[in-house]
Parts: sequence; C-alpha cells; structure tokens
Amino acid sequence: MPLEILTIPCLSDNYAFLAHDAASSETALIDVPEAAPILAALQDRGWRLSHVLLTHHHADHTQGLNAVLQQHPATVIGAAADAHRLPSLDVAVADGDDVRIGTQTGHVMDVSGHTVGHIAFHFPESRAVFTADSLMALGCGRLFEGSAAQMWESLSRLAALPADTVVYSGHEYTQANGAFAVTVDPDNPDLAARVRDIAQKREQGLATVPSTLELELATNPFLRAAEPRVQAAVGMVGAEPALVFAEIRARKDSF
Ligand code: ZN
Ligand code: FE
Repeated sequence: MPLEILTIPCLSDNYAFLAHDAASSETALIDVPEAAPILAALQDRGWRLSHVLLTHHHADHTQGLNAVLQQHPATVIGAAADAHRLPSLDVAVADGDDVRIGTQTGHVMDVSGHTVGHIAFHFPESRAVFTADSLMALGCGRLFEGSAAQMWESLSRLAALPADTVVYSGHEYTQANGAFAVTVDPDNPDLAARVRDIAQKREQGLATVPSTLELELATNPFLRAAEPRVQAAVGMVGAEPALVFAEIRARKDSF
C-alpha cells in the first residue's frame, strides 16, 4: 500500500510532510520548519512518528526538530556530507542509499545545487519524491552553494523519474515562480493554464504543492532548458541546456 502523505503548511511559506505507512504504522516526517503544526497533525491523525528525514541544513527545514523529538522520539536521517551542520543524525546517508519507512523503500538522491549536500527521497512504490529546495513547483531553489551545472545535473536526474511521480517540494513560491516562468516560456499553453490554476488556488487559500513531475516537465522553465522555444526566448538557440539553465537561473535571481 502506498504511503499516505499529508502536506503541512509551516511558518509563512514552508511545507513539511508526514508520510504514513498504514501496514506498519510507521510515519516519517520530511523536514521540520516548525514543531507546532507538525505535532498537531500527528495528534489529529493519531500517528506515532518513527523517522525524520532531513533534506538540507537550512534552518527553515530543521529548526523545529528538537521540539518534535521531545514528544515523538524518532530516528533522524540526513546527508552524511552535511552531518557537521545538521542536527545530530542517527543515520547518515548518501546518494544511492535506501531508507525504509515500514514496508516502503525510499531512495536517497544527491540533488546538490541550492546547497551542496541537499538530498531528495524518492519512494517509487508510492510515486512520491520529496525534493524540498531542489526541484520546486514551477521553480528550483536558489544557488546558495552549488553551481548551475550541479543544479542542472540534479534537476536532470529528478526529471528522469517516472512522469506520474508526485513532487513534494519545500515552499509555497509557485505564484511568484509563475510570474517569472511566463517571461522565458511565453508561448506555452500548458504554462498559461497552470498560472491561471495557481491564481485560483491561491485566491482560495489552497496549496499548490505537491505537483506532478508530468506537470513540471510541461511547464517548469528550469526543466525546459533544452526546449527550442525556451532557448529562443533567452536568445540561446542551440546552446548547451546546462548553459541555458544557468541563464534562466540568473534571470530569476534578478527578476
Ligand atoms: Zn533551503
Ligand atoms: Fe527552504
């Protein structure tokens, strides 16, 4: 049975996720921006936390951990490469490692770029990938530590997952991302439709996360650096996709 996944809004625009395996009653928390909404969701569902999966070291993804662990002792899993700047880990993992939540196996993927050492967790049987600030809804994380080439490589690996994979990313940035996306992919009808859908959802106070990889492939400009129309829009027809990606990322930084 696939994981049951809850999206939990935290702080002003962060998301945490609870992933519950009904067969074993194990529950994983992915990222910990803030304890209170997470503890409330656990109580509401009557779930006992078994694991915490950390995607990267930024405070808005880790700072609620101690308060959560005080009420729910759990195994904390994060990147070995970041062990020196993450909260204390019980299990340190690297690209290619597996994590088990009850009956479900998650594959650890190094998706460096936003930070070096950022990881994603892909649960193929649940058609879910937790990407935090790597691949985001209609966007990707800002390059605080890694290079554009590194982020392009990370996004390319995520883009190669099955198209029906649901993408659980770390922030509600989608509307702002859409305003930028149309400037580099102006004639994309799927993007135009998505931008309208996002506006409607936000008016109703609804989350635009998660999304699907299929939708990201069709509309997210950061995955579309090889598309002739996107290349034309940034004046780089025929250029290496990694370089087109770098240009798009640079334009977003100053948008
Ligand atoms: Zn971050
Ligand atoms: Fe973040």
